[in-house]
Amino acid sequence: MIVAILGLTTTLEAQSNHTYWQQHVDYTMEVAMDVKNYQYSGTQKLVYTNNSPDEIDRVFYHLFFNAFQPGSEMDMRLQSIKDPDGRMFVDGKSRIAGLTPDKIGYLRVTDLTQDGEKVSFTEEGTILVVNLAKPIPAGGKTTFDMTFNGQVPEQVRRAGRNSSEGVALSMSQWYPKMAEYDFEGWHAYPYIGREFHGVWGDFDVKLTIDKKYVVGGSGYLQNPQEIGHGYEAPGTKVKRPRGKTLTWHFKAPMVHDFMWAADPDYIHDTLQVEDGPLLHFLYKDDKEILENWKKLQPKTAEAMKFFNNNIGKYPYDQYSVIQGGDGGMEYAMSTLITGGRSFGSLVGVMVHELAHSWFQHILATNESKHEWMDEGFTSFISSLCMNQIMDQNKQNPFENSYKGYYNLVASGKEQPQTTHSDRYDLNFAYGVAAYSKGAIFLSQLGYVIGQDKLMETLRKYYEDFKFKHPTPNDIKRTAEKVSGMHLDWYLTDWTQTTNTIDYGIKEVAAKGEKTVVTLERIGAMPMPIDILVLYNDGTQETFYAPLRMMYGEKENPYPTLKRTVLNDWPWAQPEYDFVLETPLDNIKAVVIDPSQLMADVNEENNVYQPQE
Ligand SMILES: [Zn+2]
Repeated sequence: MIVAILGLTTTLEAQSNHTYWQQHVDYTMEVAMDVKNYQYSGTQKLVYTNNSPDEIDRVFYHLFFNAFQPGSEMDMRLQSIKDPDGRMFVDGKSRIAGLTPDKIGYLRVTDLTQDGEKVSFTEEGTILVVNLAKPIPAGGKTTFDMTFNGQVPEQVRRAGRNSSEGVALSMSQWYPKMAEYDFEGWHAYPYIGREFHGVWGDFDVKLTIDKKYVVGGSGYLQNPQEIGHGYEAPGTKVKRPRGKTLTWHFKAPMVHDFMWAADPDYIHDTLQVEDGPLLHFLYKDDKEILENWKKLQPKTAEAMKFFNNNIGKYPYDQYSVIQGGDGGMEYAMSTLITGGRSFGSLVGVMVHELAHSWFQHILATNESKHEWMDEGFTSFISSLCMNQIMDQNKQNPFENSYKGYYNLVASGKEQPQTTHSDRYDLNFAYGVAAYSKGAIFLSQLGYVIGQDKLMETLRKYYEDFKFKHPTPNDIKRTAEKVSGMHLDWYLTDWTQTTNTIDYGIKEVAAKGEKTVVTLERIGAMPMPIDILVLYNDGTQETFYAPLRMMYGEKENPYPTLKRTVLNDWPWAQPEYDFVLETPLDNIKAVVIDPSQLMADVNEENNVYQPQE
């Protein structure tokens, strides 16, 4: 009897939704690219480990290139959204709608077996739905063997052939990619507009291509002495096999994506970061950009060191900055960026994409669902990095994020950050919610818990969640553990609602020889309040009204000034007052949050100055 009860308890625990697990994939691919017609074909062996507590009877692969066909969901969305992306929508027309059959993209699976048995599959737009020959049990492993072929689309968005800057092949989202099944279920998102979520695993990729082409991307090159093109050990002789093609062999351990790019005119430079990875730079031999791309290299090393110090050590031995794509996009161990930019813009895009190595690649948030953790945290840390490595010395490095957010609120078009990244009404609303409001989540968290605690939170978050799929609750819990404060209200109001913050100074009035300051809460979102008081005799002091539901107080953010910690302000109480031990005519100004890191949507009522 006792044994039976114990057995039952164990089973129940194993089925609990609260235990973290993640799937694992090992890809082995051999691919041949025809550089004349941009068609390629290949084989893929995928060993899939089901670490979930569930039996799986269907799996889903992404076939991203199918988005670049007239009538695709990406095309339909482009034609119906009010503010389409200017890279994809030109002269009032969808560029996808105009692709001829030789310029569309496609990715077709021609044969698929599971442990040697044929499986049935159907293509539904950009997703391949596979009915398994036999279910994969919880804890089980299975091997898929596939043949596939594809055509690289004319570059419309992110990937493609012949980019606007003349890069031949920007190969992101190019292979049949297993969709992620995680603790939230399947994420077989159709490719409509943006962002990706993948399964962690190891990649072994052999790529056969015209020998004139120089290739860069995810993964360590295994046969540099056969390849050359700047990959060979310095001063050694390259021994190439005969023939018109070369087979590049890459391995990328513990990543969730694999990108490559190729061009016959790439220059390839490398730079070793001290105590860090080897940086690779691949860019077109184009006079206009050469100087900037040389100057970019030491800045990349500086940025790498900045992120290593402020978030945690970059775990791979290689990172590649590659000219390609249509703006800037982050990939495993690499990025594709456009190269014809001013130096400041080139450094800016490199810093942003490199920062994604932490916030999205290594901390692999589901960026379709939690876009603000991906773009927002990246924007936050890259603003700090730019401020340092480009000597910007801005007092508030996040100023543009705040401006963007206030603008969105004023427009009335804001949607909560819990919106799926493809489902915002406007690209504008997505952009500000993800990048600007997402950056403010962290900069404002620094206001709430203190700057030191914020940076400690980031380092602990990285340590605890690297190589996983962290969720919004994980960053909140980390900040709670580091600060000792309750922050559920912060996550809820900021990310799941469009509630805004508006605190004001209602009145500053004489009370005999003393002064009473009355504050009011006008917006729905709670906040703790810092107040700076300036006196006519030139002195200053600060006051701090903690938020009751936080159950904690931050350290004095202005250590050179005297701070008085006032009584807690309970959220439901609309007004709050405190006393200054000085007559009213000695008050020069009273200011709510002089740091301006609290995203108060009405700053006009944040300052009191007596009429002259
Ligand atoms: Zn980004």
